[in-house]
Amino acid sequence: MQTIHEQLIFQLIENRQATSQVEIAQRLDLPSNTVHGIVNRLLRNEVIRADRIERRGRGRPIQHYCVFKKTRVMAIQWLGSVWHAGVFLDNQVVGKIQKRISPLLNNCQEALQMLREFRDMTLQQAGLTSKDIDGTVLGINAVRVPNERILNSSVIPWIREFSEEKLAKELECDIRLETYYSQSRTVSELRVRAGDNIHNLVIFNVGDGVSSQGLSLDPIWASQHRIWGEMGHIVVDPDGPICGCGHRGCLEALISGPAILRKVRSDVQNGVQTRLAEYTGVLPAEFFSQLEMLERSGGDSYANTIVQELIRRCAWAVSVIVNLLHPDVIVMSGYVLEGRDEWRNRILAAAKSLILYGEKETIPLEFPKAGAEDYLRDLAASFSTSQTEPKGMVENLSRN
Ligand SMILES: [Zn+2]
Repeated sequence: MQTIHEQLIFQLIENRQATSQVEIAQRLDLPSNTVHGIVNRLLRNEVIRADRIERRGRGRPIQHYCVFKKTRVMAIQWLGSVWHAGVFLDNQVVGKIQKRISPLLNNCQEALQMLREFRDMTLQQAGLTSKDIDGTVLGINAVRVPNERILNSSVIPWIREFSEEKLAKELECDIRLETYYSQSRTVSELRVRAGDNIHNLVIFNVGDGVSSQGLSLDPIWASQHRIWGEMGHIVVDPDGPICGCGHRGCLEALISGPAILRKVRSDVQNGVQTRLAEYTGVLPAEFFSQLEMLERSGGDSYANTIVQELIRRCAWAVSVIVNLLHPDVIVMSGYVLEGRDEWRNRILAAAKSLILYGEKETIPLEFPKAGAEDYLRDLAASFSTSQTEPKGMVENLSRN
């Protein structure tokens, strides 16, 4: 049974006319402890929930509230050629996680077409239509240019044409873009390792791009710190091939999936004899499984050279991560490396010789434990906060 004050407070929060205890108390001219009691009751009964926190100058942070609503969110992770998607209702997956491998897309139109198809396929298998979805979060392999809203990516060069407004219009849905996709992956990886006494972790990813992103948990302050750098864009060969970022000889320009494929194609055209010539037309993810098998069989000296070079470069990258950050775990992901156990052992052996005291140390080089469902769930969970934050920020700016 709701009191009249409960109803009024609920309406103020629902209509976003007053969303903090101070605002509500002013609006209804009620004592702050009365508002406090009612808000706590509404929170306990899951009628409302905590929303954004407002920080102004040195004052105490102000907690805002919103109505507790079950949202059905679609999460799509698009990393270039690898796609995953799922629908989540309160952190539970509806139906099955979908996976798709595509070629790297050449323009915005191709990407929109693919997004539509992939979304409809995911909805269909979950027995839903686009009307059943409250919003979509799209995790992409891009960064936002600091202080601007423009997107940038060394893997998807035309991504600047993408914006939330454009996607919302074209796909006719409420959509959020999440950049720095590895952030949600590092959270997922740490979560699945909870209880393993792991406080920090770096994901070394070699796929369509090359990156290393880390997360460090501070158990005393219950806070987390991102460790980000641009491992993929360290110039390792100043005379090397041009990178998607515009520089020459970045690690990404030498060992990413598309970079290796480009090199093999051009060497084959220049007359190099290798059985890899049969596979230059396949999708990058497939190419690396063929390369692994061919090298293991031992008969193709060109394939051996490609793998040796890849392992040498990856070992260098791992040694940089250990020498700089010394994380509790390094997770090797991306279709170039993931699951390739023999390559991992060779990378480990080569990295040891590059790390100070490396011969005596155990370097925890692992494969991902979190699956697509784990990080899509984290991506979906970001919807409700990302939904309210930008509006809140605009309100604060206009008030100040
Ligand atoms: Zn680069």
